[in-house]
This record gives sequence, C-alpha cells and structure tokens, in this order.
Amino acid sequence: LTSRLQGFGTTVFAQMSALAERHRAVNLGQGFPDFDGPGEVLEAAITAIREGHNQYAPGPGVAPLREAVAAHQQRFWGLDYDPESEIIATAGATEAICAGLQALCEVGDEVVVFEPFYDSYRAGIAMAGAVPSPVPLDRRDLAIDPAALRAAVSPKTRLVLLNSPHNPTGKVFTREELAEIAAVCVEHDLIAVTDEVYEHLTFDVAHHPLATFPGMRERTVTVSSAGKTFSVTGWKIGWLCAPPDLANAVRTAKQFMTFVNGTPFQYAVAVGLALDDEYFANYRADYRSRRDRLVEGLATAGFDVRPPDGTYFVTADLGDTDDVAWCLDLPERAGVVAVPQSVFYAEPARGRGLVRFAFCKTDAVLDAGISRLERLR
Ligand code: PMP
Ligand code: GLN
Repeated sequence: LTSRLQGFGTTVFAQMSALAERHRAVNLGQGFPDFDGPGEVLEAAITAIREGHNQYAPGPGVAPLREAVAAHQQRFWGLDYDPESEIIATAGATEAICAGLQALCEVGDEVVVFEPFYDSYRAGIAMAGAVPSPVPLDRRDLAIDPAALRAAVSPKTRLVLLNSPHNPTGKVFTREELAEIAAVCVEHDLIAVTDEVYEHLTFDVAHHPLATFPGMRERTVTVSSAGKTFSVTGWKIGWLCAPPDLANAVRTAKQFMTFVNGTPFQYAVAVGLALDDEYFANYRADYRSRRDRLVEGLATAGFDVRPPDGTYFVTADLGDTDDVAWCLDLPERAGVVAVPQSVFYAEPARGRGLVRFAFCKTDAVLDAGISRLERLR
C-alpha cells in the first residue's frame, strides 16, 4: 500500500455491516435502505435491459439521464444546466467526488472540509495528493464559526468540499452559513464541490444548493446520486452539474477511473428523476416518520439524541465514552449495529462518544433495534 493510502483500512461501513451479519444484529449502521425504491424505476431498468441498452454508455452518460438531471435541477432548485456540456453521469457520488479532487487539485493543495466529514473525502483528498483543512462543526448545535472558516483558508487552498444535508450529523447548512461559504469562495477564488446526495431529505428546513448563491454557479461542481433518492444504493448511478470547463476537467479524470457505468440503470434513473412531485413529497414524509420513530425510541431508551434536520441519520451523544469500542461491542451485547462517529474527524477526540444510527429501515426493524437498545439500560 502506498504512503498516500496508509491508514485507510476497510471502511467503517463495511466493517460494521460484516459485524451485523456475523451477529445477526439489527443493522442501523451502514446507510442503505432495507426496502426497494419505486416500482416504475425498477421496471425501467428491466425494460432497458430487455430493450438492449447493455453496452457502454457515451462518456458523459446516456442523453435521457443528462436531460432528466437538467430538468430536475430546474424543477427543484431553479438551476439551468446544459445536458450536453454541463452534466456528467458517474459511478455514484463517490466517483464524482474522487474524480473531482483528482481533476481539480494539484499535489499539496489544501481542501477545506467541514468536520466531521464523510469517510471517502479524506481518502479522495489523499489520493489526489492534497491536504484536508478541517473546519469543525460545533459539537452541540452543529454551527460553523465564520472565523474558523476564514482561518482554514490559506494561499494553498484550492477547493471547498461541502456536504449538505450532512452525513453523519444530519445538519442542513443554513442560508446564512452557505452565503458565508460562498463569499469565502468568491473572495479567494476557490472551487466548490458540493455533495448533495440527501437533497430531498430535509424535514423542517430548506435545502439550498450552493450553486444558487451569487458568484457560485461558475465555480461549483454539484454532485448527487440516485442511491438515496430512489433507494437503489447498489446501482451506483450518480451525476455532477458544473460549468463546461470544470465538467470537462472532472470527466477527464472520470474516464480513466471507470470509463462509463451502468447503462440500463442510467435509463431507469432518468425515469426516477421525472417522477411527479407526489413521489418526492411522500419520500420525505415517510422518512420524517421513520426519523421521529427512531429519535423517540432512542430517547425512551435513555440516549441523548436530537432530531436531525436532514439525511437519514441520527446522532446519539454518549459523552465521555470510547464510541469505537462501544460500537464494536454493541452487536454482541445488544444485537444492534451503529457507526462510531469519531472516525469521521480529522481529530478523533473531537468526536469521542458520538454514535450514528441510520433510520433508512422499515418500521419493524427500527422497532426491533429500539427494543434491543432499551434492554441495555
Ligand atoms: N456522500 C455522502 C454524504 C454519502 O452519505 C454517501 C453514501 N451514500 C455518498 C456520498 C456515496 O454515494 P454513492 O453511493 O452514490 O457513491
Ligand atoms: N453512505 C453510506 C453511509 O454513510 C454508506 C456508503 C458506504 O458504505 N460507502 O452509511
């Protein structure tokens, strides 16, 4: 293993899902739904296969998907992108982010990231030879300190990597915070890569794509994915929207990572993105009720939890506890799997005692997890 990749063992999600299998535990760890997405979307993949869409897709993705992404960005966020030159299909959001970092960072460049951050960011930054510059979210209220944001920017900063709604905390960045981030990007001429895979999972607050802020459309690579929105995490279809120069740069890296990907699934995701508003409203309402179920259950079981504004994750604060040891022990002790959150910190001590539970699960599974956790008391 190269020095760039030292310290990157197996992802915490794969480790925790393996533990769940071994102990037949209720898996509230890795974020994947235990139910299927909309029937029309699943059928569309089968139809695409039957219709012979089984060979390499064009480099930027099949045209119906790029057109559907453009229509979706316009319908939900009022953003206009040209499907020909500004949209690229990728192997999930993971590839879009990794290829973005490869394409846009020079060796030694600094990348501003909000801590805690999704596990692939640190590896993607390392593989690009870049260096993370973390801005911590406040442990209790998840706010960002504008002074800390400005202090994280140096002459070597190239890019800001944002994730809102935010995994693992469930934070949805406020309009004011995003305006501040946008102002810093414009002032220092930085590129933004924004991971918006949970764009449709906000509960009582609005999601604002960073590209909608003044001066940002021309410097932002917006990334999303079908995995969450259509409950098809195994399909690995994602996309990015960016001005032509940035889109071309990312495509240059992407084409030598996976070349292209998942032709029939791209056709099916195009169908998903065009589903009516009712689909997206029901999707959000279903997740709101799952959120409330898990948050109430965990609170009753004695955990210190607060309802997240977005995503399908809730954080419990165990205080001065080794969250990694606690999570490694939990499957055997309680028959439940959760994810230790300190692994998402550049400085793990700052996340000590935080544990993430996923609620992308059927009610019966959430209830089983809750009742097992109640017995821990
Ligand atoms: N970003 C975030 C914040 C995520 O939670 C995930 C996990 N779904 C991903 C990226 C990866 O998405 P994909 O499976 O589409 O690569
Ligand atoms: N994004 C999912 C999570 O946060 C997992 C994806 C993965 O296992 N890489 O749980």
